[in-house]
Amino acid sequence: MGLARPVVFGNWKMHGLRADSLALAGSLVERAVRPTGTLGVFPPATVLRDVARRLEGSRILAGAQDCHPEASGAFTGSISASMVKDAGGTAVLVGHSERRHGLGEDDAVIRRKVLAAQGEGLLVVLCVGETEAEWQAGEREARLRRQIHEGLAETVDAALLVLAYEPVWAIGTGRTPSLEDIAGTHAFLRRELVGRLPAAQDVPLLYGGSVKPGNAADIMALPDVDGALVGGASLDAAGFWSIYQAG
Ligand code: PEP
Repeated sequence: MGLARPVVFGNWKMHGLRADSLALAGSLVERAVRPTGTLGVFPPATVLRDVARRLEGSRILAGAQDCHPEASGAFTGSISASMVKDAGGTAVLVGHSERRHGLGEDDAVIRRKVLAAQGEGLLVVLCVGETEAEWQAGEREARLRRQIHEGLAETVDAALLVLAYEPVWAIGTGRTPSLEDIAGTHAFLRRELVGRLPAAQDVPLLYGGSVKPGNAADIMALPDVDGALVGGASLDAAGFWSIYQAG
């Protein structure tokens, strides 16, 4: 059995000192008394341990926003998958566009990160998405196909995988593709994913990019959309919880 739907994850990005993060986690715990789906948050690495502890006993998971492909070594500023696990994390975001485009991560390094994280038993949320220029040039599908085939080795464990479709031009911009567009892209992603990993029929497909309380229900009602990856709107407990409830 895969993860219970809806699967709604919050990427806190580089926001929150310890006190704010604990308050946000606490507000979610108060709301999520008996969630029937899957809820998770991805705080900054500096507060991962505190947030994971605050979430203990709840059904909300805590994960990291990235991990290094190597287990240890001279990689200043990086954290390994085993460190994520040691800090209480059970999941990790891999290939977020702010790392692909802001920090130059390519599919080859992402592929190694996916394997490193799964090697520690972490759930991997692999983020894929096209840029605005690729979208306008009709290159979206080619880009997504490459990200799936090059980012996922054939040995990837489908039971420890979530795929998040996040058009780069929709992240933090208030813009989203049309509902038809999202549905068509998710159907394409499901076909590509199963073509790559035959066991991936049940891998949750999340949409991410300017998901808000006002558009979450329509997006998550689409076929092959199993939930959402939420950035900005996940920093407000009430808003994030209402997105989860819309799913
Ligand atoms: C994200 O960071 O993954 C994201 C989807 O951001 P936002 O919801 O703010 O567009």
